[in-house]
Amino acid sequence: MPEQLSAEHRELAARVRDFAARELEPRRDQSAAEARPAVVAAARAAGLFQMTQPAESGGSAASVLALTVVRDELAAANAPHQDAVFGPGPGVLAGVGEPLASTHLAPLLAGTRRGAFGFTEPADAVTPTHARIDGDTLRVTGRKSYVTGGGGADFVNTLVQIEDRGPALVVIDTDAPGVTIERTFTSLDGSHHAAFRFDDVAVPVTHMIGEPGQGMPRAMRQIGDVRLAIAARCVGTMRWVIDDLTRHLEAEDGRSGGRRGDREGVRLRYADLRIEAFAARSMLYRTARLADAGENVVNEGIACKVFATEAVGRVVDTAIQLVGGVALTEDHPLAVLYRQVRSLRLAEGGSDVLRLNLARGKLELDKGRL
Ligand SMILES: Cc1cc2nc3c(=O)[nH]c(=O)nc-3n(C[C@H](O)[C@H](O)[C@H](O)COP(=O)(O)OP(=O)(O)OC[C@H]3O[C@@H](n4cnc5c(N)ncnc54)[C@H](O)[C@@H]3O)c2cc1C
Repeated sequence: MPEQLSAEHRELAARVRDFAARELEPRRDQSAAEARPAVVAAARAAGLFQMTQPAESGGSAASVLALTVVRDELAAANAPHQDAVFGPGPGVLAGVGEPLASTHLAPLLAGTRRGAFGFTEPADAVTPTHARIDGDTLRVTGRKSYVTGGGGADFVNTLVQIEDRGPALVVIDTDAPGVTIERTFTSLDGSHHAAFRFDDVAVPVTHMIGEPGQGMPRAMRQIGDVRLAIAARCVGTMRWVIDDLTRHLEAEDGRSGGRRGDREGVRLRYADLRIEAFAARSMLYRTARLADAGENVVNEGIACKVFATEAVGRVVDTAIQLVGGVALTEDHPLAVLYRQVRSLRLAEGGSDVLRLNLARGKLELDKGRL
């Protein structure tokens, strides 16, 4: 293993493998709603649920490396209901003062109110979502096109341009007058989203997270954390796919005689998959350690996200090709993973846009190690 884990992290990895086998796998045929209560209870008992939550709220605020280990192992088990294992984290609400700490952060962490993140705007938006300050009130107008979980959210943390003052994150309650869900939709990976419209919505100024002008860096910190989480899931998924493919190639091929993996052309493809998985895994664990050391990992996070999401796409695609037509049966695990991993090259920033950010970091800002 390239990541050279400590005894403590190896024990954590073993605990997660056991958890996936005992608590998640038996619930594969249940819907997310059916499985959720039992998975949450089991994850709490196993000490996993609390890992994304701050210590002051009863969480264990795990390190980036520990979270990476858990996400990697869950994906390497191809476990169902992985999304229910971790408790809701504070996200962009981390460190907010009153009143948001009591009205939104505490209920979010307790699981009694649900939040979502409104960043992406529709391609035909002429002006970004904006607000003017009217005394103690912000008047917000605009649209957000791709809010994951927006249909069931109590509030949306929304990036808003505050007139003459710059972007800020603003907490908008979804039941406020002037908030409309224009449509809800499901993406290829099966996740649910909503498109929102805000028509002169009155929001208390106290719902602004931080100061105007701080919206973008705060949003980027949250997006950066999620990018590493996505990379960890991709790395674990690659492990599962390659292990599954290995068993397939070790088996006898009744039609041609000999093992399926005896063909040299197949071995070349197979070796490429192992090389890609090794590279993605090495990048991810190195970056997790840098993050825990307090280093700025913006560029490394981008690199991990772009490389891991593109690599897992190639790994799943090639595995389907090597296994053959049976892997395209709608409920075959590889067909399911094919649909799931495709969305990751766009979620939290499309690959090419991230490449441009990385290049800009060097050419215009001369920042970062990459
Ligand atoms: C599963 C999933 C969940 C999501 N959840 C959320 C969420 O909770 N909240 C949220 O706000 N958003 C969410 N999104 C939206 C996601 O962040 C955007 O889809 C992504 O950032 C790309 O933006 P876009 O769709 O507007 O595409 P565009 O920005 O229009 O980009 C489309 C393509 O155009 C090209 N392109 C664009 N700009 C450039 C450029 N400057 N130079 C070169 N090429 C360029 C690239 O090829 C790019 O892939 C989610 C998306 C998915 C798939």
